[in-house]
Amino acid sequence: MLQGKTALVTGSTSGIGLGIAKALAQQGANIVLNGFGDTQGPQAEIAALGVKVAYHGADMSKASEIEAMMKFAADTFGRVDILVNNAGIQHVAKIEDFPVERWDAIIAINLTSAFHATRLALPAMKAANWGRIINVASIHGLVGSAEKSAYVAAKHGVVGLTKVTALENATTGVTCNAICPGWVLTPLVQKQVDAKAVAMGLSNEEAKKQLLQEKEPSMQFTTPEELGELAVFFCSAAGNNVRGAAWNMDGGWTAQ
Ligand code: NAD
Repeated sequence: MLQGKTALVTGSTSGIGLGIAKALAQQGANIVLNGFGDTQGPQAEIAALGVKVAYHGADMSKASEIEAMMKFAADTFGRVDILVNNAGIQHVAKIEDFPVERWDAIIAINLTSAFHATRLALPAMKAANWGRIINVASIHGLVGSAEKSAYVAAKHGVVGLTKVTALENATTGVTCNAICPGWVLTPLVQKQVDAKAVAMGLSNEEAKKQLLQEKEPSMQFTTPEELGELAVFFCSAAGNNVRGAAWNMDGGWTAQ
């Protein structure tokens, strides 16, 4: 379905970003990966799906590096047809204890990076009259949780940016939508499981159950594979007129 298209997924060396990159590659899209940590393993996983893969190590907190990454993607594959703004970090603390430097980093990586990548991707998408911008927000783009002020503020911002991007391009073939996952068991969440296990003297399994019990009626984690399939839907022809949605995949979290 996506042969000949190029997808750039930020923060795709791990977790949800890697899951979405794989799902798009399975549909034939060439992939530009980005993120820290092991970069060889994810590149090999994508190449094994029979598409072209490239990697750029831009730090998403830096506008100049995002500009370099977007230029690299265009130079390598011609243009970016599908942009998935996914890179994100978390920090958990009460507002009065929240380290100012962590606030700034979360706003930069989780919100401002999506603005930069979007503004740089739009001209080529509009010229081609086809494009998909998928913002990985969170259920925290729709509701709050205590001790996550920066993350919740950034993710609500991402949902707002999604709506404006959709509206400004509503008469074109460029759509923009947000994905709002509940708990997904990635390294970002495992850190919170570990913190809960230590704080409450629980085993890993008990801490996971406790985490789900607090918020997610299904008592199941959403998987990167399921989120990848949702991204594929947004890229399909059936998604042509899905614009500005903030689509939850949250086991009933926001239905409560
Ligand atoms: P993860 O920690 O597994 O992956 C995060 C990715 O972002 C990694 O590839 C990491 O290298 C990259 N990254 C971090 N800082 C970066 C930076 N400065 N520049 C470039 N890349 C950077 O986490 P995840 O759970 O897969 O999170 C991915 C996205 O999904 C985030 O935006 C997160 O907020 C969102 N999300 C996660 C959950 C969840 O339960 N895990 C739920 C809702 C939304």
